[in-house]
Amino acid sequence: MKFSKLFIPTIKEAPKDATLISHQLLIRAGFIASSGAGLYNLLPLGLKMLHKISAIVRDEMNKAGANELAMSVVTPASLWSQSGRYEVFGKELLRFKDRKNNAFVFSPTNEESIVDIVRGRITSYKQLPLNLYQINTKFRDEARPRFGIMRAREFVMKDAYSFHADEKDLKREFANMERAYNAIFTRLGLSFVAVNADSGAIGGSGSKEFMVLANSGEDDILLSQNYAANVEAAIRQARTSDAPRPESNAMSKFKTPDCDTIAKVAEFFHVDAFYTIKAVIKKAIFENGSKIIVFFVRGDDELQNIKAQNAAKALEIEDASADEIAKAGLVAGYCGPAHLPENIDFYIDNELKNESQMICGANEFGYHIVGFKVSNFKDERFADLVAVKAGDISVDGGILSLKKGIEVGHIFQLGQKYSRAMNATFLDENGKATPFIMGCYGIGVSRLIAAMVEQNHDERGIIWQKQCAPFDLHIIVGDVKNEKQMSFASELESELESAGFEVLLDDRNERFGVKMADFELIGIPNAIIIAKSLENEQVEIITRKNLIKEKIPANQAKIELEKRLKA
Ligand code: ATP
Ligand code: MG
Repeated sequence: MKFSKLFIPTIKEAPKDATLISHQLLIRAGFIASSGAGLYNLLPLGLKMLHKISAIVRDEMNKAGANELAMSVVTPASLWSQSGRYEVFGKELLRFKDRKNNAFVFSPTNEESIVDIVRGRITSYKQLPLNLYQINTKFRDEARPRFGIMRAREFVMKDAYSFHADEKDLKREFANMERAYNAIFTRLGLSFVAVNADSGAIGGSGSKEFMVLANSGEDDILLSQNYAANVEAAIRQARTSDAPRPESNAMSKFKTPDCDTIAKVAEFFHVDAFYTIKAVIKKAIFENGSKIIVFFVRGDDELQNIKAQNAAKALEIEDASADEIAKAGLVAGYCGPAHLPENIDFYIDNELKNESQMICGANEFGYHIVGFKVSNFKDERFADLVAVKAGDISVDGGILSLKKGIEVGHIFQLGQKYSRAMNATFLDENGKATPFIMGCYGIGVSRLIAAMVEQNHDERGIIWQKQCAPFDLHIIVGDVKNEKQMSFASELESELESAGFEVLLDDRNERFGVKMADFELIGIPNAIIIAKSLENEQVEIITRKNLIKEKIPANQAKIELEKRLKA
């Protein structure tokens, strides 16, 4: 392929709003161009990468036994009403009407569509299991579209949905998909980790995210030797403390003027904050309204918002305003689990269960309670609420460390949430109508282009990994008007292309420096420079990764390159 025939609009400066390196480089190297907030055009090189990644995803999904289909991107709102999501899905769901005033949504995900497709068409357990997938456009009206195609509004996802007769078979397919995902991300040359993830209000035991490790990642993940989890789902060994426990065993009320923070309370009583109880007052949003909920964690712990949201089975959790706290009859700074107003809903962190001699707010301005025993609460009041952090002890006994990750895949055991709501059943072995047991499996195909760049670049540009690059070889011709150089280059191009390699021949009549800079920016893994030294039958081979040049005899070029490109 001749460079002059390809549309590769490289530019020197990235736009000011591009803060992420992959965003800057993909624009500068001519892979993508913005067309509006969170909207991107894939230019020829960008589309080439999308196709290459898709081919790997497709190959592994097919090998894993899934069937490819393509669902309509615009789906009727009525389907979304059947699952109940039309009402509860937030503003990310783009809702619109057609000329007949019928309501539609632009698919952000396709559980409803797939259930509708399978419903009535798969009727017996004998036709199960089934895994259907597509690689298709999604739209989510993200609150903060940013970072280019990393977090766009319109993007390409591979989404798969599996159907099973029982939980055991779902677990088998979940493991099958986990294997396929490992194979996909390995073939893409990525350094990644599969982490335990939040399963949301849907519940279910298994949800794993695949994280590409990169400092710019938006997700926090905690790792120890045999454990990895998103902070939203991370667990730890319960913390202990060597600090002396407050003496008072009997529960009594103390006047604690100006002690409206844990630090002040701990100082006032001369105790370690470990023995205090912190109240975090939140406003929980539900389908039909909101309410104030108090979450109690140890004084020196923090509340994990997603865990709180799950405990309360809320759609969202927000900070409660001073006004809302007062209206609920709560006293900010002095709130505790003892003598809480009766109408107030509350949850206590699991690690506080069975604790005694604790200090907490008395629900009265300027007073705290000492000698509090965290018992006498029903089991359903307790939940895992703490934000696990670096340095905590992992369930495998190691120390947890914090890393940043980019979520490129998410696999999920859905169970019967959608099939039940949408009345999609099959006849089981006993002839009984049973809702399908489902799994779903997503990969951010267009996000992967950005994730690959985040992980592989230097100050000069992108460094594509050999496993998945727009081209295998970049041929840089020193002087395109020099017939010997040009014919050597063209011949090499066609020979290597016949051997099955993808070659980009820079045949532009540009200065050598310009062409080298473009090679470094675009990031094809290997290049050959055919220039003046060809007079002495010499050419130079260069790898993008370390930019080390190596002179070789011109007549060895083809053999040497074939060896390198294959390896
Ligand atoms: P995130 O937490 O990053 O918003 P998500 O958990 O909402 O993602 P899923 O519903 O699990 O995303 O979607 C499957 C995959 O689609 C994600 O793992 C991610 O790689 C990709 N993806 C999700 N949102 C976007 C987006 N706005 N732009 C590009 N890719 C996305
Ligand atoms: Mg996800």
